Amino acid sequence: MSRKAVFLDKDGTLVEDVPYNVDPEQIRLTVGALEAVRSLHLTDYQLFIITNQSGVARGYFPETALITVEQHLRELFQSVGVPLAGFYYCPHHPDGSVTHYATHCNCRKPQPGLLLRAASQHQIDLNQSWFIGDILHDIQAGRQAGCRTILLDNGNETEWQLSPQRLPHHTVNNLIEAANVIQAIATPPQTDTQLQNNSVSPVPKTPETPPMRSASSPPTLIPSEGVWGKRSSPSRGFGGLPPNARITRNKPCSNP
Ligand SMILES: [Mg+2]
Ligand SMILES: [Zn+2]
Repeated sequence: MSRKAVFLDKDGTLVEDVPYNVDPEQIRLTVGALEAVRSLHLTDYQLFIITNQSGVARGYFPETALITVEQHLRELFQSVGVPLAGFYYCPHHPDGSVTHYATHCNCRKPQPGLLLRAASQHQIDLNQSWFIGDILHDIQAGRQAGCRTILLDNGNETEWQLSPQRLPHHTVNNLIEAANVIQAIATPPQTDTQLQNNSVSPVPKTPETPPMRSASSPPTLIPSEGVWGKRSSPSRGFGGLPPNARITRNKPCSNP
């Protein structure tokens, strides 16, 4: 059994964000979600859902309502042959109205508690694992747990309070792109021999003594594109920060 996992935020990442929804009829997967989880499963990642569900603490629905949600998502995964390894939720909120759940906990993202619990219960190596979410609280939780992180830049993050702990390793538009990033990085680079066997022109050997550059030599060009090839802005998470326009966006809180 593989010890590496992809942890998925639920609302806004795996399913369209319908605040405090627990009705399976209203659960809609995001673009390419099933294709992405299938592809990740086939490359040996266990799939987990990690979600804040403060609607329990706020008294909007009972904790038992999440059983139906989990079951529905499990069936959707099974429809493409993917086992859901675990569904982990935080029912708490410090300002909740239901006393039992109105608490500061270590499992509400951006805290990493749910990830740590999942990893412990399933013997997951967090350093080989990934967290995908749609807001920076997800990124912070993933980083604190030791995972690499991917932000779906779909407009749900509105505050962009960045810090080293909240900086995504990669930023993409949907789960398919996220799966592509994970697989590109997880695939070991081919050796020279493999490249030759595949009839790819070998990379010319670097001369032992590099030619001197004269003032008239053209400048050395450094390719600006990485493994994502044609993308105009690969891995925006590292370099380009989101446009300032996003800061002024006013959407409802997507971290219920
Ligand atoms: Mg979310
Ligand atoms: Zn909690």
